[in-house]
Formats: sequence, C-alpha cells, structure tokens
Amino acid sequence: MTNFTAIPFLDLVTLHANLEDEFCNILRQTVRTAGFIGGPMVEDFEAEFAKFCDAQCCIGVGSGTDALRFALVAAGVGPGSIVVTVPNTFIATGEAITQAGGMPHFVDVDECTYNMDPEKLREFLETECARDAISGRTFHKVSGAKVAAVVPVHLYGQMADMDSIVELAEQYHLEVVEDACQAHGAQYFSQKEQRWRSAGSIGKAAAFSFYPGKNLGACGEGGAVTTNDTELAKRVRMLRDHGQSRKYFHDIEGYNGRLDSIQAGFLKAKLRHLTEWNAQRRAHAGRYNQMLAPHADSIALPYEPSSSRAVYHLYVVRVAERDTVQQRLGAAGVGTGIHYPIPLHLQKAYRQLGYERGDLPIAEAVADRILSLPMFPSLTDEQQRRVVDELAAAVSQVALGDFALAVEPK
Ligand SMILES: *Cc1c(COP(=O)(O)O)cnc(C)c1O
Repeated sequence: MTNFTAIPFLDLVTLHANLEDEFCNILRQTVRTAGFIGGPMVEDFEAEFAKFCDAQCCIGVGSGTDALRFALVAAGVGPGSIVVTVPNTFIATGEAITQAGGMPHFVDVDECTYNMDPEKLREFLETECARDAISGRTFHKVSGAKVAAVVPVHLYGQMADMDSIVELAEQYHLEVVEDACQAHGAQYFSQKEQRWRSAGSIGKAAAFSFYPGKNLGACGEGGAVTTNDTELAKRVRMLRDHGQSRKYFHDIEGYNGRLDSIQAGFLKAKLRHLTEWNAQRRAHAGRYNQMLAPHADSIALPYEPSSSRAVYHLYVVRVAERDTVQQRLGAAGVGTGIHYPIPLHLQKAYRQLGYERGDLPIAEAVADRILSLPMFPSLTDEQQRRVVDELAAAVSQVALGDFALAVEPK
C-alpha cells in the first residue's frame, strides 16, 4: 500500500488548533477571578445555548447523563414508574431512567432511521397499558406501575418523529424528555405546526451532552438541560446543586452535578462555530452519500426523511459481515466505530428486566450490521475518497450478504 496515512475516526486536535489562544485566555480569566463554579461564564453560556436550541431555559450540568437524570426527576419520574425508550442507544439513557427511580421499557425502532418507531410506542400503550378512569394516568396492566414518560433518542444527530411521539404522549399523559445528547442543532419539520423545530425545544425537557466528541464538546465533561417550563428549570437548578434553593437551604435532596465555569467558557467559545461545523458535517454526509451511491447493492446509507435536518454526529452505514469489514478498514488505516454493538435490552446490566434476543428484532438486526465512518468537521475530500475506496474494497471481499434487514417480527 502506498501513501499510507491513517484516517482517524474522530479528529479533535485539528478542530481545536485555532482555538488555543482563546482557551488560554478563558483559563487565565478564571484563574485570576477564581470563579470556578457558577458565575457569569456559566450563565452566559446557558443563555446562548438556550437561544441556539430555541428553548426558553438552559441549565448547565455535569454531563449528559446528569442532564437526563435531572430532567427525568424534575419531570416527575419517581420510584416504580415506567419510562419508555429505545434499546439502540448509549447506556446513559437507561442509567438515567433507573437512577431517577424509574424502570426502562424498550420499544423497537424504525428500520430506516433507527429512531423510535411511534407505531411500536402506540402498540405498547394500546395493548399493554390502560388509563385510570379517575386520574387519567396511564399504568402498565401487568405490573400496575405508572407509565410516566417517554425518552426518544435523537440518534446520530437525527431527530425522532416528534409529532407522532408528542401526540401519543399527550393522549396518554406522558412527559416527553428528549435525549438530544447527539443532536445539538438538529431540526425537525413539524407537520402539525408547519415549522422547523430544533432539538431540545419540543419535549417537556431535553438533555444534551458536551462530552468532547459530541458536535458541541467541552474539554472535559459537561451537559445541559433545556426546557420551556420555568418551574421545571428551577427544579433542575436545585437538583444540580444539592437541592439548594439558596446556600445551605436544602429544599430537597439533590446531586453534585454542576457545569464548571472553565468548561462553560470553552463551550461558549465553541458554540460560535457550531452552526458552521454542523454544516460541514452535513456537506460531508452528502459527499459520502454521493460517493457510496454506486455501491447500493452492498452498503445501505443513512436515511434522512424530508422532515429532518440531521447534524450527523455520526455517519452510519449498514453492511454484511460488519466485523470483517471493520477489521479490513482498520488494517487499511481507516478508523471506524460501532454505535452500538449490543442493544440495551441484551446488556448484562439489564438482565433483570427479562428481555431476550428476538424481543426487539429491528434494533438487534441493526446492531449486527452498522458501522460508523469517520465524521468530523475538518474531514477532507481526500480522506473521504480514501474511506470510500477502502470500504468498497472491504465489502467486495465479503460474501454479498444480508446487509438488508430481513427480520421477521416476532
Ligand atoms: C453521550 C450520550 C449520553 C451521555 O452523555 P455523557 O455526557 O457522556 O454523560 C447519553 N445519551 C446519548 C444518546 C449519548 O450519545
């Protein structure tokens, strides 16, 4: 092989190269004021991120997991309540539900977008749940548990079908908490409202992660809750800071889950570039689509409905014999990832929930075939060409198999 230059799955070094001086100034300013926790840096970032998401309030927290957990608690998820979500997500979605006191119930995903299939949500609510005649509350018929909320995950930077999910949630009195941890700036066209809406502006609340590799990432840990509900915002503000309404007055028991000022400063500096970075990701996705189109018989491309403007946190294709293909790409110096190899319902950590292989056939079939290609703002045309050439070579060597989702519903 000539000209062997490795192509990373993610390049955060190039992204930050031009921001170094600005970061140093932020650091200097924090050291000189000793304003490490709270203060104007956090408040400024919160105001700007709320505006970016078209939400009324933003509360900076310690991580995306904190954001999900606090949003769920503040939305009223408590001990014994069921929260409906999808299995093909990062485990933090499940952890937040359980740690809020709830119990996850997984519904299967759409085979094109891999996002929550509203029909599967409807089926669960119609067949396994009932409404209490007096309170109007939805409960699970077998366990008697209250069904409190639904958490759609805007996977890979593409929003779930929110019109249908919100409509069902209203009908069944469920709170919607968006897992927008991969979807900073993603948009969805609401048929109901005849306008584009941003991730983080639709649900009762939404959770964002600023883990370094996310579309907007800190230089460390960070997260945020967005909401249009000022009362919920107040509860999240208390939850992140030991339940304090003011110093040493603890109205409730909370957590240590604050966003620190240095990270807020870095995030504010990076937020100015986010729209451009997301546009670059979309352009790269378009180029991948174009270059991979001739291989439609062996590589399934990401599906973006006309109602969606995805921000391509990840660019995910589907191939047969995925592990072999990934190995070949690795040997050729192309970094890839799998998001995620084991759906939550089949993870050891959730054994006690009693799911079995075959329960959620689409999510399972997807997990065996997906492959995330290099995707980051500074990805070059030349790098994309190499990725596509190596991917085409790798799939041409495996049996032309079952990259399609030939799944039989149970
Ligand atoms: C990253 C991520 C989280 C968790 O965010 P952290 O900041 O790592 O805690 C939750 N859900 C999804 C879908 C994610 O991608």
